[in-house]
Amino acid sequence: MGALALPQRELNYRLKRSSARRTLALRVDGRGEVAVNAPMRLPLAHIEEFIRTHADWLHARLQRARVIPFAWQDGAALPWLGGHVTLRVCPPGAGAPVRLDGAMLYCAVAGRELATQVLDWYRTQARGLLAARLASWAAVAGVPTPPLRLSNARTRWGSLSATGVVGLNWRLVMLPAQAIDYVVCHELAHLRQRDHSPAFWREVERLYPDWREARRLLRGSQHLCFHVA
Ligand SMILES: [Zn+2]
Repeated sequence: MGALALPQRELNYRLKRSSARRTLALRVDGRGEVAVNAPMRLPLAHIEEFIRTHADWLHARLQRARVIPFAWQDGAALPWLGGHVTLRVCPPGAGAPVRLDGAMLYCAVAGRELATQVLDWYRTQARGLLAARLASWAAVAGVPTPPLRLSNARTRWGSLSATGVVGLNWRLVMLPAQAIDYVVCHELAHLRQRDHSPAFWREVERLYPDWREARRLLRGSQHLCFHVA
């Protein structure tokens, strides 16, 4: 791992040297991690110069990944319904260990328990909120509300099982309501059309005309993965 101060911010990157390589290459992955592939013996100054000359490109890519540096501690910004709530660690007391009050998420636990409790809170909120959206959109679609399964997939926001169970990722509650509604409508549309044929997209369009914009929101949110140690 190397670190380099670019004009606006310090950049952390992974340097991979290889004797087979003759040129430099810069990559930003979906999680906003930067990797530099370099020839075995190329001086570091050359590599840093190369990164600097690509600073604009890098910033654009990192912006797109919208990387949120994250640590489980007091003051952390937690994504919530397209915005953020601020994590406030407070002394243990009576009542629920995690409690949302306005834009503050009070959590009366410390250490490793913090992540566990907050993620439990997310899942509980997700179950209620997503079940309500599913019921409401099923009514619009004119179908009985399908059973809901909360999913923890890393790469999928929603799914529909062969038996008609709608799987919704609990992380959806981090996204704006439009994104949630689109995913719900997408899966409901699959009740009528299992494939992604033009007939399917007509069904999505009928249910949720703003699906294109919502899909863009989803594509910009692929980084919203919490790793629980
Ligand atoms: Zn689909």
